[in-house]
Amino acid sequence: MRTANLDALGIEVPLRRNEFYHDDGYVDSIEGHEKELCVLYGRDYESPEKNGTEVVGICRVIKRYNWSDLEIIKDIHTYQIDFGTENYKLQVKAHEQAHALHKLDKLEILSRKIEKNFRVRINFDQLTSSEVIAHMGGIYAVLKKTNDPNQLAIKKSGIDDYMEALYIWKNSKLPERKYLFFNKL
Ligand SMILES: [Zn+2]
Repeated sequence: MRTANLDALGIEVPLRRNEFYHDDGYVDSIEGHEKELCVLYGRDYESPEKNGTEVVGICRVIKRYNWSDLEIIKDIHTYQIDFGTENYKLQVKAHEQAHALHKLDKLEILSRKIEKNFRVRINFDQLTSSEVIAHMGGIYAVLKKTNDPNQLAIKKSGIDDYMEALYIWKNSKLPERKYLFFNKL
């Protein structure tokens, strides 16, 4: 069985036969790589820049129709520019890989990992913003590596989504386990 190795999240996810994942790693420029993908897949180029802010990472899904098997082929590419500290780069990569996991319809794997490691229960079904969902991946990866919230980068672009993700994370902690013999009062 083929799998996608979402290494920043520590998740290996099984792929359906029409799904393909490509970790394109670091690229010199987002725009340049977007253009290369457009040539590769024979598509028109659209600028990925939003609101004039610098884009540091991308998860691009390219769907094409396979006429011989009569099915939609889904190619998912993630890539980023080599910018910032190691933790920042990890956060960006995990963010993009969370987008990929979302596109693969496998967010429940991330949900289980977050709960197991941090006793935080994120109900992805109730989150409507794909950016908030992806930020959960970035937060998870950096906290798993450093266990230090101060290592989280506040992304300049999409700060509202990021703050919302942090808020939901902090308010989704499961209650501490209580043991009877500690309750002396
Ligand atoms: Zn995103």
